[in-house]
Amino acid sequence: MATYLILMGAPGAGKGTQAKLLQEKLGIPQVSTGDLFRENLKNDTELGKLARSYMDKGELVPDEVTVAMVKDRLSREDCQSGAIFDGFPRTVAQADALDALLSELDGKIKVVPFINVNPDSVVQRLLKRAELEGRADDNEETIRTRMSVFQEQTSPLLNHYEARGLLVEINGEQEIEAVQTDLLSAIEDK
Ligand code: ADP
Repeated sequence: MATYLILMGAPGAGKGTQAKLLQEKLGIPQVSTGDLFRENLKNDTELGKLARSYMDKGELVPDEVTVAMVKDRLSREDCQSGAIFDGFPRTVAQADALDALLSELDGKIKVVPFINVNPDSVVQRLLKRAELEGRADDNEETIRTRMSVFQEQTSPLLNHYEARGLLVEINGEQEIEAVQTDLLSAIEDK
């Protein structure tokens, strides 16, 4: 049976960094909806044009658009054994859609690590990333919107997965390697 992991955490918590390290160790690919949208922006696709208006403001792209993109990604060959979700699901509706998709694929969510960081360190990290990578949505105003979107729309998912016994909290204030070690042991323990 294919196994799926969901990395949860506020913007800037380190989900992408950790997902990239995990995909090498576990041999299942990272599926980052943020990266998929950015790829579409770069290639100037219709999906990219639609996503841009939301991303630039730090708002969520509508659920049905996001879910269709994830469905397409999961149908590719490299996801046959599972995937590491980074930045998805971000709403309760997306979590429900994911459950439906996974039951079609005969897949199961193995564990949902929540990389927990203090909101102040997150803002500092994102502002630094803005300098280094120049991501269009890493400016102070958009960062503030993304943080409140996380609080309002995504954080209810923590209870949702906790209630299903899948949530494991990881201290995201540690060095990258220490976070990775904690993640790997949380995955092995499940
Ligand atoms: P962050 O560092 O804020 O977590 P991401 O790279 O994951 O950044 O996402 C960047 C933007 O892409 C989000 O602000 C949002 O507009 C859009 N996005 C990414 N994932 C989703 C999703 N699951 N649902 C809706 N919109 C999304």
